Amino acid sequence: MKTKAAILWGLDQDWSVEEVELDDPKEGEVMIKLAASGLCHSDEHLRTGDIPIPFPVIGGHEGAGVIEKVGPGVTDLAVGDHVVLAFIPSCGTCRYCSSGMSNLCDLGAGIVLGPQLDGTYRFHARGEDVGQMCILGTFSPYTVVSKDSVVKIDPDIPLDRAALVGCGVATGFGSAVNTGEVKPGDVVVVMGCGGIGMNAIQGARIAGAKAIVAIDPVQGKWEKAEEFGATHACADADAAWDIVSEMTRGQLADKVIITTGVAEGSYIYEALSLCGKKGRVVVTAIGHPDETTVEMSLFELALYEKQVVGSLFGSSNPRTQIPQLLDLYRAGHLMLDELVTKTYTLEEINQGYQDMRDGKNIRGVIVYD
Ligand SMILES: [Zn+2]
Ligand SMILES: [Zn+2]
Repeated sequence: MKTKAAILWGLDQDWSVEEVELDDPKEGEVMIKLAASGLCHSDEHLRTGDIPIPFPVIGGHEGAGVIEKVGPGVTDLAVGDHVVLAFIPSCGTCRYCSSGMSNLCDLGAGIVLGPQLDGTYRFHARGEDVGQMCILGTFSPYTVVSKDSVVKIDPDIPLDRAALVGCGVATGFGSAVNTGEVKPGDVVVVMGCGGIGMNAIQGARIAGAKAIVAIDPVQGKWEKAEEFGATHACADADAAWDIVSEMTRGQLADKVIITTGVAEGSYIYEALSLCGKKGRVVVTAIGHPDETTVEMSLFELALYEKQVVGSLFGSSNPRTQIPQLLDLYRAGHLMLDELVTKTYTLEEINQGYQDMRDGKNIRGVIVYD
């Protein structure tokens, strides 16, 4: 069928919204009619090269919609099902899936390659095969994806809200709750108050943190951070250290979660300085593949038993975490409506990313007809 999509044809270019040809789902795949797609920072990383991916590629990996067609061999999904797309597929049978770590599923190796899991392409434009970000490509009103990327949800949840839990919400919430293991009474610092950071803040709040200190140089985000549960907000790590040191009588933070736009080696040093004994630094932000320099006090690392841990998809299992988060939304604990700063049409995608770069958006969302 013919549809349209936002394609990136090369580094540092704008998204090009144009007509594309979309194939029917093959074995184990489904076609989705998307209702909405979040504008996540990771798609901006494709443009800048911080996440290397072959071009051309259709962006977008945070979507929800309704199943339009079902390919051969798909028995647990039907036309009309409401679904959220998970940016990491879970096969259910690899070593990591079967040990309860679906976020590390072996199929994840394919998410920045372009083609579907069988190595062939579903989208075509200008006579070329076009890849799909995270094997999803939600910057299109229709897409074809693997059944392993799809999580069925209850039909009463608004799809434009559900879309957000496929990446940003699960990643931020899980960074605090799963990877950070925030406990009641913890003092938590969140570095960076974008779409991921706000969800780390609300995750820490729901987990019972005593204090949550939000760091962001954009002062306009402080009030929003407090709305999501931050007890304090400030511009940089030095200011946060003063707050945390005073509040804990020098014991410092239990958890520091790095959710900045891009991870830099220097942030690790700052984050470790904010942590007290047994303090844990969770690194959710993505650094450039060539960034290999990190400074830390090895003396403090050992003697204070500090920890630095990476976090992918908030260490969440998509099939359990996504429905759980939507239950928390329905029960009034998880704030999703407040995350959406502005909605855009697909044609307005470049403006949406400009607004993100300008620090105007917590989450911009593309809404389809
Ligand atoms: Zn994302
Ligand atoms: Zn797996």
